[in-house]
Amino acid sequence: MNEDIKDKIKGIIFGQAIGDALGLGTEFLTKKQVAELYPDGYDYYDQMVRDKHRKRWAIGSWTDDTDQFLCVLDSLIENQTIDELDIAKRFKHWLDSNGMGIGQTTYKVLTLPQYEKQPKKGAKLIWKIKKKSIAANGGLMRNSIIGTYKFWDTDEVIRNSISICELTHYDPRCKDSCAIVSSLIAAELNFQPISWDELNISLDGYDKRIKEYTISPNDKIENLRLDESDSLGYTLKALNAGIWSYYNSNNFRESLLKIILEGGDADTNGCIVGSLLGAKFGYKSIPSQWIDGLLGKDILEKKTAIYLEKLEHLMTSNQ
Ligand SMILES: [Mg+2]
Repeated sequence: MNEDIKDKIKGIIFGQAIGDALGLGTEFLTKKQVAELYPDGYDYYDQMVRDKHRKRWAIGSWTDDTDQFLCVLDSLIENQTIDELDIAKRFKHWLDSNGMGIGQTTYKVLTLPQYEKQPKKGAKLIWKIKKKSIAANGGLMRNSIIGTYKFWDTDEVIRNSISICELTHYDPRCKDSCAIVSSLIAAELNFQPISWDELNISLDGYDKRIKEYTISPNDKIENLRLDESDSLGYTLKALNAGIWSYYNSNNFRESLLKIILEGGDADTNGCIVGSLLGAKFGYKSIPSQWIDGLLGKDILEKKTAIYLEKLEHLMTSNQ
């Protein structure tokens, strides 16, 4: 595996965590509130307003999004295969060990008595109880690592993305959001990035609500309406933020901040945008200040190195 690929994968992992940790600073705020609370701007963890919601986390911490992402990464490291029941067990264990910030759908699914034995059955049940109307971003927020696993086999990447999403989120819009972001990430790792025109055409192959909802990257960022309160945790909102940023970005720092300063579900949007930008520009493009201030930096560094080693081994034995 060449060094550029390794740098991109490291960029995805750190981009996810940094987007999450910085995004916490504007999570659940409107764009107007962001401007009022941060009159001198916001671009570093320690500027974060310590209100009731945010002070639960230490400065520079990531939240539930990356905690669950690491459940998937740890399982991949340990098993070197997609072991759905093992991942489900790790999600449940995370919640039982006082996991903070969990979304409603994930909570309802993980607390079902039979969850660890039949996670997908539970996810499907909750989806049906909610009359198939809820499509939250909890599957997408932890998904970017799947785009890296066996990235050379894009069909498998898509299958895996859908399959891991189904462990908590059964709605087709959730699964398709994961498949789309994973495809963009895997394409970057194969040095065959998907153009906006190609992506736009491929959207016809997904749930039709996706194309209806997706705005063109030529539209203004305001049209993402990220701080609209009635659709805050919607998977297509986070997907849209990811797509828009991916095609509008020239650099990691500016593009991530742009999305975060829009408020809304900013930590989750930050994860998706941060990991996509990490795939596009690599770890080397991430400001060192953001890496150094990340509380779990050393753990992440260690996990990334082990994962890269295992992935490289898988890649060689596949050839
Ligand atoms: Mg969160």
